[in-house]
Amino acid sequence: MDRPSLLDGRTRAIAVLTKTDLAFQQCIFPGCGATYGVDEVRVACESCGGLLDVVYDWDHLRPPESLRFFESRWARRNDPVCFSGVWRFRELLPFAPADSVVTVGEGQTLLHPSEGVARYTGMRPGRLFLQYEGMNPSGSFKDNGMSAAFTHARYIGARIAACASTGNTSASLALYCSVTGLLRAIIFVGSGKIAFGKLSQALDYGALTIQIAGDFDDAMQRVREVSRQLGIYLVNSVNPFRLEGQKTIMYRVLEALGWEVPDWIVVPGGNLGNASAFGKAFAELRQLGLVDRVPRLAIINAQGANTLYQLVEKRGVRWNGGHPPQETIDQFYAEMDRQHRRADTIASAIEINRPVNLHKCLRALEVCDGVVRQVSDQEILDAKARVGAGGMGCEPASAASVAGVKRLVEEGVISPDERVVCILTGHQLKDPTATVAYHTTDQEHFNRVLGSRGVKRAEFANRAVEVSNNLDEIIRAIQLYS
Ligand SMILES: *Cc1c(COP(=O)(O)O)cnc(C)c1O
Ligand SMILES: [Zn+2]
Repeated sequence: MDRPSLLDGRTRAIAVLTKTDLAFQQCIFPGCGATYGVDEVRVACESCGGLLDVVYDWDHLRPPESLRFFESRWARRNDPVCFSGVWRFRELLPFAPADSVVTVGEGQTLLHPSEGVARYTGMRPGRLFLQYEGMNPSGSFKDNGMSAAFTHARYIGARIAACASTGNTSASLALYCSVTGLLRAIIFVGSGKIAFGKLSQALDYGALTIQIAGDFDDAMQRVREVSRQLGIYLVNSVNPFRLEGQKTIMYRVLEALGWEVPDWIVVPGGNLGNASAFGKAFAELRQLGLVDRVPRLAIINAQGANTLYQLVEKRGVRWNGGHPPQETIDQFYAEMDRQHRRADTIASAIEINRPVNLHKCLRALEVCDGVVRQVSDQEILDAKARVGAGGMGCEPASAASVAGVKRLVEEGVISPDERVVCILTGHQLKDPTATVAYHTTDQEHFNRVLGSRGVKRAEFANRAVEVSNNLDEIIRAIQLYS
């Protein structure tokens, strides 16, 4: 049988013999450039502490000459590796042999034009698209990265995997562990900092769940320590293999646009793994001659968790060819600690103080001529309601992208005629608390959940109509409101 292969027969044989130098890990800082094998487990450069990339020797891997090559996969959906929205692009993330690939059917996602959201943001009809990553098996884009991290974990023979999480990484890790039975999951969450939809997934899928008295950043620090001490495989987005999987979100956007590059990709920014992966995807596609230009990137912070916005837009921090001004960054964090400022937003998935992929993200902003904006919880919830009314609900963090487009159109940075893709990162059912509070008729409930975050109105609320249990009254209500 024609077995799907990540690398073709010849290169694969070499890869297995030499533990592959066709793919390797490399420190992102050009001044360091230390390399490590893909069979090593690392989340930082040994010599300088920098983040690592997965790098490919494209000259010897012979990637496709056109993106249309991938269309041949559509006819082979009965093969799980072709069905996967990640692995049907395997030639663009060839870091492991075919028999290591782990898939649970991730990446069956849609690029959906939305007229209602276009109107809301001030875009012309037909110019705004929503990339609906909530359709993934665990309900968020994290599955794209998790299938790649699991593939690497399987390749190197890991037994236990861990993550710190605001919720969706843990849901994804727990799902992959329970479906595949390959690894045992340990998840670290900040106590009270996780939406119930996400926590319920981790518990239901059977992950060992450790609730730490603290927030995401505290949990992240602890999980790093624990993983190092116990030799546990870390699947946070500091894991460079995870970002390889997340590159495919961009390949699917291109695929849906007939391989045309949009003008803007707009994405919420938390730990900045997605933004980093998107930048890498386009840098590679351009290097390979598979696209003739790259889109611009807009990364949207919540106002209550705006580290990237502060650094880039207020303090002028740039990648600067691999020499970002570390002193400015360190000063910002020192000040944050001194003033006891902690991230606080309804968009819990991006409630992050110290984004772990900051440096990679600065590089992505350079590659894609990017901008960063912040939006309030009010703007996020209003945008979320407009997305929901268009039929593709999302969780609060995801709607930051739509709120960000509205701002950028108002500012004249995005023109209403450009083609804009918003990444809807997570499913609506992840955080029903926020949705129900927005639409509630109970003002006290609204104030308790949202008022404390500065949310004053629910302009787009679709409130339930309350009637007594009486047929005439019910019929009257229907006639009055329909
Ligand atoms: C993880 C997550 C984010 C943040 O993504 P980063 O890659 O960490 O910036 C945004 N939205 C949702 C729904 C998420 O789960
Ligand atoms: Zn280094």
